[in-house]
Amino acid sequence: MSLRVQRLSKSYGERLVLREISFECARGEFFSILGKSGSGKTTLLRLVAGLERSDDGKIFLNEKDVTALAAHQRKIPIVFQNYALFPHLNVFENVAFGLREQKRKESDIRATVLETLKLLSIDDKMYRLPAELSGGEQQRVAIARALAVQAPITLFDEPLSNLDLDLRRAMQKELKFIQRQMGRTFIYVTHDQEEALTLSDKLLILHKGRACECGSPEDIYHRPKTLFGARFIGSANVIRVQVLDSRHLKTESGLTLAHGENLQGKFFDVVIRPEHIELASGFGRNTFRAKVLASYFKGAFFEHLINLEGIELTMLSAQPLPAEPLVRVSKFFIFPPNSDRYDQDPTH
Ligand code: ADP
Repeated sequence: MSLRVQRLSKSYGERLVLREISFECARGEFFSILGKSGSGKTTLLRLVAGLERSDDGKIFLNEKDVTALAAHQRKIPIVFQNYALFPHLNVFENVAFGLREQKRKESDIRATVLETLKLLSIDDKMYRLPAELSGGEQQRVAIARALAVQAPITLFDEPLSNLDLDLRRAMQKELKFIQRQMGRTFIYVTHDQEEALTLSDKLLILHKGRACECGSPEDIYHRPKTLFGARFIGSANVIRVQVLDSRHLKTESGLTLAHGENLQGKFFDVVIRPEHIELASGFGRNTFRAKVLASYFKGAFFEHLINLEGIELTMLSAQPLPAEPLVRVSKFFIFPPNSDRYDQDPTH
């Protein structure tokens, strides 16, 4: 295990910004911390780096308790959004900086810097100053600098968000390739769901300072534990339902859904992914006559807005749909009502 975080909490004054966060990140994993702006991602990363102190909880690095160690003792490199290069040092010296601090041999420093600059395809600019580089090139140098020191984990705080979309997508692929090739452990903060899905072996989703999901992107997508997680990863139709009897839920408009769960309570929120509304060939369980309200051609598929007994939902199809198709809801998730809102929580 590279990193283990145990019940970490942090307040700024009266404001609780992280509440009992626990997660584990295995060696060689690309681990992303994903959440909206203000959800506590950067604070969590800074706690791991030792740049902030937690109020409660523990941090283990390679099973060693580092909670009481300061940042310079933990020595965890971090790549920032704004690059934070040393402006007076050239590219080579920026990347060599951490290695010189480690008092490595000059020949070893030179070989490591060159190898890392090559890996980041920036070796042809090694005698330039940061001011003589584009934003994308500066970020390559910042990444090379963090990787050169060969730490057990490397932290990234929204490192690509200053880059334009094309460059960002290209850098995502490169980062993933480099992480795999070097077998490194990356802890990566982002607010971009697509970026997190593309890059990560494992995701931690933060919502208002709480960890609401932790697992592989596939796990969270197919088996979300929370309403927030279900909405945040992938597309989701959310409908409020009431328990009709032990096997059925009913919407206000009268749509009845059969289910097989043991539910305690009266009201629930149901999440239906667009791809779980399928064209049906005959009537059966959770099959309804729908009306197509609008259709959008998306290239590889069509997206439709349909009316299902008074409820508007989004569905997908490979072919155009008839005006009133028979559709089947093949799968849905059930959550306690409003469970993605923490309105009762006085700290938010
Ligand atoms: P994110 O990275 O998800 O955008 P942050 O971790 O930066 O979120 O911030 C989480 C919350 O903590 C925000 O409400 C922010 O205003 C607050 N916060 C962050 N740093 C400080 C600080 N040094 N002092 C007071 N409040 C802070």
